[in-house]
Amino acid sequence: MLDVHVPVSLRSTPQSECLSRLLAELPSSSPLPRDAASFWSSYGFSSPAPFLQRTALRPIEAALFSELKARLSSTPISSASFAACLSPASRAWLLAFPSPAFSLSDREFSLASRLRLGLPPSDALPRVCRCSARMSEDPGHFLSCPLLRPLARVRHDRLVRFLATLIQRAGGAAYVEPRYLEDKRPDIHAFFPDDRVMLDVCVAHPSAPSRAGLAPGSALKYRENAKTSAYSSMAKDADSRFVPFAFESFGGLGPAAVAFLRDLDSYATESFLSASYITSLSSLAVLLQKGNAEMLAQGIVMVSRPAVQK
Ligand SMILES: [Zn+2]
Repeated sequence: MLDVHVPVSLRSTPQSECLSRLLAELPSSSPLPRDAASFWSSYGFSSPAPFLQRTALRPIEAALFSELKARLSSTPISSASFAACLSPASRAWLLAFPSPAFSLSDREFSLASRLRLGLPPSDALPRVCRCSARMSEDPGHFLSCPLLRPLARVRHDRLVRFLATLIQRAGGAAYVEPRYLEDKRPDIHAFFPDDRVMLDVCVAHPSAPSRAGLAPGSALKYRENAKTSAYSSMAKDADSRFVPFAFESFGGLGPAAVAFLRDLDSYATESFLSASYITSLSSLAVLLQKGNAEMLAQGIVMVSRPAVQK
């Protein structure tokens, strides 16, 4: 017998059937009724209680998240990629306001999305890379492939040049690879009215097989610490502070880099210039994904060509 409290219009619509399935699959922590009739009895006529949407969706999202986490924790590599994608800065490229200077082509967007989803850059890759690594176990292999290292350098150099532009937009002067410093040079020496900063940029790939067993964020921390110990005494001698500007290939940004972008925001405000933290963060995020896409696309081309017999 039909419940008289259920509005006729809601008794057998596809939406109602879909709702029945959804309610039946809800985790036990959900406060919602377990069948559609009880749901419509409670919410069909009367105004919903406050925060109903949040109450309804939280347990569903939590269950989906746990399921995804369990599936992606099956190997150290997939687990490291998943952990890297939880970093808030890793989604900045998805939230960036498109502009002619910083937009991703369809191909770049597809490659960046596949990387974030833990998928290989193409469905038709051979099992083994030209460098002999087994790609079937590491979908992001091209980002740590030794044969594509020159393109990692291109990605790095583009990030450095754009960071120098951001410094100038905030009213500073930026020298890229300052030749007046001996031996190892940091990427940028920046000058502001009350601050001098040396920066070195790097991109860590947390799901590289050599790093995959480490705790989330440790690849980034490792690169930040290595840069700091390499450059901080040189910076001190030049009456400057050193900032390790470390990215993760999935988009995460080290705490020192985040703090520096916030400094740029304040310096710009003090000089009545417009250089906001969010714009800087999202532009760098888009540029990083463009660099990744270049490596992934060239990787596909490299393994698709027949090997040259020597
Ligand atoms: Zn390779």
